[in-house]
Amino acid sequence: MSKVIYLDYNATTPIAPEVLEVMLPYFKDKYANPSSKYKTAMDIAAEVELARSSIAKFLGAKFSDELLFTGSATESINHAIRGCLKAFPKKRHIITTEVEHPAVLETCKDLERDGYRVSYLKVNQQGELLIEEFKQALSPDTGLVSIMYANNETGVVFPIDELSRITKEVDPDIFFHTDATQAIGKRPMDLNSQSYKNIDFLSMSGHKIYAPKGIGLLFTRKGARLRKFITGGHHEFNKRGGTLNVPFIIGMAKAFELLTDDFNKNLQKKLSELRDSFEKEISTNVPYIRINGLGAKRSANTTNISFDCIEGESILFQLDKMGFCISSGSACTSGSLEPSHVLRAMHVPLTSAHSSLRISLGRYTTKEDVDSLAKALPGVIQRLREISPFWDRKLNKPNEMAAQYSCSIK
Ligand code: PLP
Repeated sequence: MSKVIYLDYNATTPIAPEVLEVMLPYFKDKYANPSSKYKTAMDIAAEVELARSSIAKFLGAKFSDELLFTGSATESINHAIRGCLKAFPKKRHIITTEVEHPAVLETCKDLERDGYRVSYLKVNQQGELLIEEFKQALSPDTGLVSIMYANNETGVVFPIDELSRITKEVDPDIFFHTDATQAIGKRPMDLNSQSYKNIDFLSMSGHKIYAPKGIGLLFTRKGARLRKFITGGHHEFNKRGGTLNVPFIIGMAKAFELLTDDFNKNLQKKLSELRDSFEKEISTNVPYIRINGLGAKRSANTTNISFDCIEGESILFQLDKMGFCISSGSACTSGSLEPSHVLRAMHVPLTSAHSSLRISLGRYTTKEDVDSLAKALPGVIQRLREISPFWDRKLNKPNEMAAQYSCSIK
């Protein structure tokens, strides 16, 4: 097979052709620095502000200066977490979850080295948070809660509306940040609505919504104070130093515009149908699999499946030779041999955590793409299991196997 079949939209999305098209003039004639004070530059600055307000409209932000353009979701997350805590130095406690992206987890670990106390909330076997545990973790010393909207590895969705509401009911002075990188465009978000009005900070990234890599967004609700994270010039309302990345900002605004088309065309419904029929087919044709997160509320585009007795990396290697682009765990950690921290937090046995694949669909995925993976995968798994020293041993213990794989669709 020479055609590439891209099924790794949670790692990154292709740049939409419409996005690329609107960016191109800003690499050619419209190169002036928007901070300069002559007409050509000020026209470009006006176009940037138009882009900002159209994104604000999409997200339901009341004021467009509640949005900052950053270099990535990782930068937005660092800014929100560190900037919030620095603004309120007496508060020394953070609440987050065990299954966050490293952008959050490593920031929290770094803050622990500076003397902050961090509560890492556990999840159940489906990857869901326990609300009671969350309530118990809130304390008078808590300065910030940082909980993701949708998980990058399993697609499991957290009830950030409920969690942010509880936070404010317990203490209106505790701030709530959500890493919405894997949710924008897939889940509803209206920051001015009753459901989401308790969110103070939201981080996201351009390259998960068909804009280029290297641009992120940070929402800061009016009244929620943040210390500057990138010091420098007076750009971005004096909240982030650095010359504005105009082509990428213009591209990001177009990418948001296209998300509205996706919602109008019911893209998520189409993807959930493709994902569900794929899971059903694999469950029928491959014995002893585990669908991680099955039974929880999940993003429509993501499935995470363990095929015991074989390494996820070996499956990837075989599928790669056939033209499929898929991840094991998140792209940011797949270079390491450690099993996914998300699956381990969900109590997935070590052997299953090592054998997981993350398949994520998006705007340009066709039924044929998913069908060809469903066709190729059983043979790949069978061949790898035949040469696995663990497979024979496992097959001799059918009762143990049946209990372990109660997570697959049968
Ligand atoms: N948060 C989540 C949930 C992600 O999936 C990612 C990227 O995969 C990030 C944060 C980091 O995004 P960026 O690459 O823009 O820094």
